[in-house]
Amino acid sequence: MTRRVVIVGGGFAGLTAAQRLARADVVITLIDRTNYHLFQPLLYQVATGGLSPADIASPIRYVLRRQDNVKVIQDTVREIGADEVVTDTATIGFDELIVATGATHHYFGHDEWEQDAPGLKTLADATGLRARILGAFETAERTGRAELTFLVVGAGPTGVEMAGAIAEMAHHALRRDFRDIDPSAARILLVEAGPRVLSAFPADLSRKAEQQLVGLGVEVMTGWQVSDVAEGRAVLRSGDEESVLNPQAIVWAAGVKASSLGSALVPLGATLDRSGRVAVNPDLTIPGHRNIHVVGDLAAVTSDGKPVPGVAPAAMQMGRYVADVIRGERSGPFRYRNKGNLATIGRSAGVADFGRVRFSGFPAWAAWLGVHIFFLIGFENRLLVMIQWAWNYVSRSRSARLVMRHEPVEGD
Ligand SMILES: Cc1cc2nc3c(=O)[nH]c(=O)nc-3n(C[C@H](O)[C@H](O)[C@H](O)COP(=O)(O)OP(=O)(O)OC[C@H]3O[C@@H](n4cnc5c(N)ncnc54)[C@H](O)[C@@H]3O)c2cc1C
Repeated sequence: MTRRVVIVGGGFAGLTAAQRLARADVVITLIDRTNYHLFQPLLYQVATGGLSPADIASPIRYVLRRQDNVKVIQDTVREIGADEVVTDTATIGFDELIVATGATHHYFGHDEWEQDAPGLKTLADATGLRARILGAFETAERTGRAELTFLVVGAGPTGVEMAGAIAEMAHHALRRDFRDIDPSAARILLVEAGPRVLSAFPADLSRKAEQQLVGLGVEVMTGWQVSDVAEGRAVLRSGDEESVLNPQAIVWAAGVKASSLGSALVPLGATLDRSGRVAVNPDLTIPGHRNIHVVGDLAAVTSDGKPVPGVAPAAMQMGRYVADVIRGERSGPFRYRNKGNLATIGRSAGVADFGRVRFSGFPAWAAWLGVHIFFLIGFENRLLVMIQWAWNYVSRSRSARLVMRHEPVEGD
């Protein structure tokens, strides 16, 4: 009998698994709470007006339109049993389950900070941040209050990308757009609790990244921790020193925790780590259930003795591995192959770490751009992003600079 495979999550891991099962004798139901696959590595471009939401997202059913063995359902999965999942509207049985619901922001016990210091994970986060950042310039022009401060918390790849892109925007894209304020006078602060930016990169590349950030006009504060956030005010601490800021926008890029659906696997015997990730067997199944596979950012697994990082290539490799296991073409433990790390810093700077080969500046930025365009889903998106990027590069413009209002306003 044809086996029923249910995939929860159409992100990097879930979508890759579905595509890898194209020719397998299975019927697949892919369930995602959104109707699109989101290319999260480019979210910061939407948040800073470089790209539009549709440039970095594709409807999942459109991506899989030629794959007859997949049915796509937009719904949210709430509970998981040994042979069925329960969504908001239905109960769906499975022979094999792939759980790939990713991760979200982590406020380390201060969830109340989220309202003032939103993270960047969804398209709504990105357009919301874009409205806050651009709205701050609009308010300054209207009121004549020119001191603008943008605070980015956490100097991992997302924090570094955001700080660099806000600096580019303030110092170049917006330079001529206002009459009463000088956007280039805006302060962009990047705060990091650890001793250096991009701590997952070798120390020499961290130094280069910091130099490139400073060159763009970003103030880098390493060794500083956020101790409070409330109503547009942020308190920073470094040892006994305290600094109080009143930033117009705060971007939270300091922590990640696994999707809450992981806890639905606990009654089946799974355990979660401190970030809420599901501790899986080396073959990515949960203990006692050889037909329940957990992949991507939601899975806590080691490869060659090291924890597998929460990055898109790891999620895609896990998706492919599990599909091959279901097709009966692979056995043995999952092994992650790290092909290198890249981070971008503004318009034409970045760092690249390919083991023995490391470089920074324009070549790293070009490598980052090539890789990201190559992995974008869909030919149209690739073409659109390439054209948009070429234009942004030449003109230094950021044309997706719309402030979207979510609430009705007078006169609407
Ligand atoms: C801002 C940002 C920048 C990043 N930059 C990079 C980068 O440059 N390079 C890199 O390699 N990685 C980067 N990452 C990390 C990378 O995006 C993740 O590692 C990757 O998305 C993980 O894939 P996944 O399939 O596990 O989860 P995701 O891609 O997050 O997909 C999870 C899917 O599950 C769905 N879902 C969640 N809960 C439910 C539910 N209960 N029911 C139904 N559906 C549900 C979601 O809608 C989503 O579609 C970045 C992440 C962010 C947020």
